[in-house]
Amino acid sequence: MYFSKLFVPILKNNPSEAKIKSHKLMLRTGMIKQSSSGIYSWLPLGFKIMKKIEKIVREEQNRVGAQEILMPTIQSSEIWKESGRYEDYGEEMLRIKDRQNREMLYGPTNEELITDIFRTSIKSYKSLPQLLYHIQWKFRDELRPRFGIMRCREFYMKDAYSFDVNDDEALLSYNKFFLSYLRTFKRMDLSAIPMAADTGPIGGNLSHEFIILADTGESKIYTDKRIFDVNSSETTIEKDSLKSLRKDFEKYYAVTDEKFNQNEFEKHVPEEYRLKTKGIEVGHIFYFGDKYSKPMNASVDFQGKKMFVKMGSYGVGVSRLVGAIIEAKYDDKNELMKWPLSVSPFDCAIIPMINKNENSNLEKANNIYKYFKDKNIDTIIDDSDENISTKIKNFNLIGIPFQIVIGKKTEGDLLEFNEIGEKTKKIKIAEAAQIIINKKK
Ligand code: ATP
Ligand code: MG
Repeated sequence: MYFSKLFVPILKNNPSEAKIKSHKLMLRTGMIKQSSSGIYSWLPLGFKIMKKIEKIVREEQNRVGAQEILMPTIQSSEIWKESGRYEDYGEEMLRIKDRQNREMLYGPTNEELITDIFRTSIKSYKSLPQLLYHIQWKFRDELRPRFGIMRCREFYMKDAYSFDVNDDEALLSYNKFFLSYLRTFKRMDLSAIPMAADTGPIGGNLSHEFIILADTGESKIYTDKRIFDVNSSETTIEKDSLKSLRKDFEKYYAVTDEKFNQNEFEKHVPEEYRLKTKGIEVGHIFYFGDKYSKPMNASVDFQGKKMFVKMGSYGVGVSRLVGAIIEAKYDDKNELMKWPLSVSPFDCAIIPMINKNENSNLEKANNIYKYFKDKNIDTIIDDSDENISTKIKNFNLIGIPFQIVIGKKTEGDLLEFNEIGEKTKKIKIAEAAQIIINKKK
């Protein structure tokens, strides 16, 4: 693909309305465009990143046995009246009336709708557990939308729901999602720490927020630093393995604001390990038992007895993650971004110096492009007439991790190969391809 054909409206300077680096970068590199307060269009670059994030989220949901469905964005108020949340949810809920004067709403979350689907379809405990998820737009009429897509009103979320016959089984489901979240964020090269959290309007008694550290985060966190070293890579999806995984994390004090207690913090965390800082919530899991199944009468038959199913819900902020990764990876001072390869909009940029009368550099670029394409390396060629340093600056800003410059210094079949943040190498095309392929694994 040629850069000149790509719809990326790059701005020369940082937009003044943006306060944090992810918002600045997303506007500057034309990833998003605001359409009204807290509501954004996603342009090709931003959309491609979000879709890659979505794919990872989906794969890791499927891997722990969750099944994908798709529920609508618009819901009827009836089911929310049944659960009792229609009034409770307050002004964050966007309420709409249709032409028959029926009360509808744009879903801020889906506990009621999924419970309704469940209760009309599943009757026997033998069909349990059920782990269902969808990836769908949500609307919350936030009091103060800010920081671009980090706290907006319309956002893209993965929400999963689990249904089990008893507490013990339900905790197993909870732990499966706990593991799937660790795997999900790791694939995005993020260190997201599970922290004991408050349950808020979702309700219930067990909850973890997955938080990545960032000065610009809105969550205050209090943690034992040793939690960053907990290794989850050996965990399998068996009951005992999952249980010990959660124990390994819960050994350390790690809580969000609402759960914080100074005495406990001091009691459980030796001084040298205490960390008070800020973070971004990228995921949140809840166990809430029969909070919805009871009022909405969602039960199964278990040995002749009617049992209200035990439920949990599990959210990932798919669109927020685009911004969260930028907050974690962008070097604001030097205007350098480096996307993790797993979500980068392109793997490699080819930057030829273009002369008006002679196009051998562009030809070379085309050849590299073809070679890389055969190897499944996603490449973009900057065919614009800009000078080479402007081009490099643009790709550093966009954050394409690998770059090949074809210019005066290019000698024979040796390519000038850059990885952002590393020293330039002079290597042959096959070696360059191999480096990228190895990193992609
Ligand atoms: P927050 O505390 O940030 O307001 P929340 O606790 O209300 O979030 P959940 O109901 O747990 O959010 O939603 C699941 C995930 O959806 C969150 O972890 C977050 O990543 C994302 N999310 C929630 N609200 C927004 C928003 N206004 N804009 C973008 N993403 C959001
Ligand atoms: Mg939350």
